[in-house]
Amino acid sequence: MHLNPYGEDAVNLAADLANRRPASAQELADRCQAAGLVVEQPVTPEDLDRALAALDAWEKVVDAADERERAELLNRMLAEAAAHPRLTDHAGDGWHLHYRDDGQPLGSVLFALISVGTALHLAGRGMHRLRRCEVAECTTIFADTTRNGRQRYCSQRCGNRDAVRRHRARAAQRAAS
Ligand SMILES: [Zn+2]
Ligand SMILES: [Zn+2]
Repeated sequence: MHLNPYGEDAVNLAADLANRRPASAQELADRCQAAGLVVEQPVTPEDLDRALAALDAWEKVVDAADERERAELLNRMLAEAAAHPRLTDHAGDGWHLHYRDDGQPLGSVLFALISVGTALHLAGRGMHRLRRCEVAECTTIFADTTRNGRQRYCSQRCGNRDAVRRHRARAAQRAAS
């Protein structure tokens, strides 16, 4: 996976893994691979532990009270994760930047990728563009990559659900008055 200037693939992978936590190291590897990450080493239970810890820290970034807290929490992840950036062509598919040392296990690769990708996304598109769905009982996290940056729901389905609910609430109010 090459980090694009907006970190889109990385932040979407983080949301996908956080919304549906992988149950095994193999599942983690498969889903990372499907997302375009090159998995270079055998994946172990330690990788799963490290990935889950990264997702716990990342969810705190999602749920931060304001932009400053969000930046501070993410900076902590970056400090823990990132090595100096380096140019690499490890998969032979083009030169790109890594923000980690070579030869890292998947758990550490993910930690760095999620931290840097999320920072690129927030800095590039807007600090508010990471949130949970507005439907109260839906806790799904999404990165808002829309043009106007005002996405409120994780899916069309949740958007429709909320529209129906608001419509009913208004109807009930009219009936009562
Ligand atoms: Zn790479
Ligand atoms: Zn939703």
